[in-house]
Amino acid sequence: MVNTYGKKVSALSVPERLLLGPGPSNSHPLVLQALANQPVGHLDPYYIDLMAEVQALLRHVWQTENRLTLPMSGTGSAAMEATIANIVEPGDTVLVGIKGYFGNRLADMASRYQAKVQTIEKSWGEVFSIEELEQALNNYRPSVLALVHAETSTGVCQPMDGVGDLCRKYNCLLVLDTVTSLGSVPVFLDQWKVDLAYSCSQKGLSCPPGLGPFTMNKRAEEKLKNRKGKVPNWYLDVSLLNKYWGSDRVYHHTAPVNMNFGIRESLRLLIDEGLENSWKRHIKNANLLWSGLEKLGLELHVDEAYRLPTLTTVKIPDGVDGKAFSLHLLNSFGVEIGGGLGELAGKVWRIGLMGYNSKKENVDKILNLFDTELSRFKS
Ligand SMILES: *Cc1c(COP(=O)(O)O)cnc(C)c1O
Repeated sequence: MVNTYGKKVSALSVPERLLLGPGPSNSHPLVLQALANQPVGHLDPYYIDLMAEVQALLRHVWQTENRLTLPMSGTGSAAMEATIANIVEPGDTVLVGIKGYFGNRLADMASRYQAKVQTIEKSWGEVFSIEELEQALNNYRPSVLALVHAETSTGVCQPMDGVGDLCRKYNCLLVLDTVTSLGSVPVFLDQWKVDLAYSCSQKGLSCPPGLGPFTMNKRAEEKLKNRKGKVPNWYLDVSLLNKYWGSDRVYHHTAPVNMNFGIRESLRLLIDEGLENSWKRHIKNANLLWSGLEKLGLELHVDEAYRLPTLTTVKIPDGVDGKAFSLHLLNSFGVEIGGGLGELAGKVWRIGLMGYNSKKENVDKILNLFDTELSRFKS
């Protein structure tokens, strides 16, 4: 036999990192402990009880009573695709609000499911006003409006007051990306009249990447039930998945059992802290970061009224090589921060304080690094 690898395989040795970028964020140590259990069977009565707990805990953090609430096997993008795949039929008009990278991804996905995609756009760092949304709904009369609540590429939080009522008035479903808000920024899904939403495990929930929480309400279920054809994605078809997550308990795919141990532990920790306490902790630490950066003479990209507590965009000062600076933080200190995407490429750094990582000692650490290290990168 030929050893195609060509040498002895060394044991895994993962470097220690403090993940203060756009995600993943560090996991809570108790979540890591939960993951380290032996798996149980995916139809084991113990596991079936655990599934129901995960669903109930997710309903709480989303503030929803939606029956169809479950973690998709896959990352946030899988759950994003699940929202589109289940309710978009060929020829449906889908209106996507694009004010950053993830709006573009939603539009791309909707087009792959043969939607007629219409877009409303804002520059990266701004939000949509209710008037702008109403005008677009009136113009395009879509069957779906898709918005990103917390735009991780820009650090903006879209205000949701009145948006759900507008969608009911114009008879369309509202899809909301809560990937960087769930658990760390107030989200009131039912009160906001959001019809479908999704998130991920690795940002505000302090878990490794691998699960994509998904939820849909009765209005969305109705659209799914009345489809003319099958959902054009077998893996993400909620009508099939619900035969496993609902009372039938029919095999669909082998659940990533350990990831569900992990998310159950992360949701337990979140509810133990208190959802509102978590929201308060995130805004408190974000405020410390914002004032600290400004004290160092740095400028923030987003207007304070729309700033996202979980993700801060900081303008890279003139003459500084932003990439070289973040690489220096990673190589010399094991601290990861992100760079800009799209319109903001080369213009901003992105600093994340999400879930387990939103704590004062991390704010102090990153501020201290900006204070002592940045001057070496100024020309
Ligand atoms: C991270 C992110 C996603 C995608 O999630 P993955 O887990 O990377 O697949 C979608 N939307 C937003 C706003 C995100 O920040």
